[in-house]
Amino acid sequence: MEVRLLQQKDGSYAFTADVSLLTAEKLRKIADAVEKYASYVKFTESQRMLVFGIKPEDAEKFCEEAGVKPAPGAGVKSVKWCPPECVFSLQDSRAMAERLEKLKGIKLPANMKIAVSGCPNSCTETQVRDIGLMGKKDGFTLYIGGCVGKNPRIGRVLKDRLSMDEAEELVMRVIELYREKAEEGERLGKFIERIGWENFLRELGL
Ligand code: SF4
Repeated sequence: MEVRLLQQKDGSYAFTADVSLLTAEKLRKIADAVEKYASYVKFTESQRMLVFGIKPEDAEKFCEEAGVKPAPGAGVKSVKWCPPECVFSLQDSRAMAERLEKLKGIKLPANMKIAVSGCPNSCTETQVRDIGLMGKKDGFTLYIGGCVGKNPRIGRVLKDRLSMDEAEELVMRVIELYREKAEEGERLGKFIERIGWENFLRELGL
């Protein structure tokens, strides 16, 4: 599991990691390390765990004992998904998300959040993620370029009625284009705004 260590106001570190799927074994290891080196835990809307109060001199030991490693730099911070067991689920959000897990660890121009929802109720907020896949009766709808924060943005529909294979292939094409053409620090939505939607579609061959 990749984590980011963020220095806090008081000089201590907070560790953040995507914990969209935690086994009891992983959880136990992290809990033991938290008990030893940290003060408390919170969970974010991105299904990320935030562990506070790690002393700088303990950061390395914390990672080692919790079974996590620091992320190399900007990249996919989270792939969040809702449980496919939900009664409203129309597509397998977990299986879709697991296909996109491979994007973690790839260096990108800026951080990226991905979300997959099993139905249009959009509990994972697919429309406001850099990449969002929403399950519908006839397949997945791919939203692109959304974000929250200081300058929130609703993602645009790139394509709908996608099978899982088609959705994965199109996301990979978007990522390749983004890696190749975006400027350092430029989020996906900003990149699309700079080059223009029509050019973006053309570059993707759509
Ligand atoms: S998005 Fe739909 S399928 Fe997923 S948890 Fe919400 S209601 Fe259930």
